[in-house]
Amino acid sequence: MKSTGIIRKVDELGRIVLPIELRRTLDIAERDELEIFMENDRIVLQKFEPACLFCGSSRGLVTYRGKNVCQDCITKMSEY
Ligand SMILES: [Zn+2]
Repeated sequence: MKSTGIIRKVDELGRIVLPIELRRTLDIAERDELEIFMENDRIVLQKFEPACLFCGSSRGLVTYRGKNVCQDCITKMSEY
């Protein structure tokens, strides 16, 4: 794990600001969604990329009843 040497304080609402350098490097823009993971005593943030429930693809996604499904899987299911 690479140290950035950056230390940030958590504010009264539990928020921290992600340093601009990290946002630029990881292509994180305003309103992007981050997924929060726990890894033992660590908090891991990862840019959230919606993916198909069945095959993991991020292309041609349709949201149905709150789940993401890609067009390919929809086509395959209709042929089943
Ligand atoms: Zn799929």
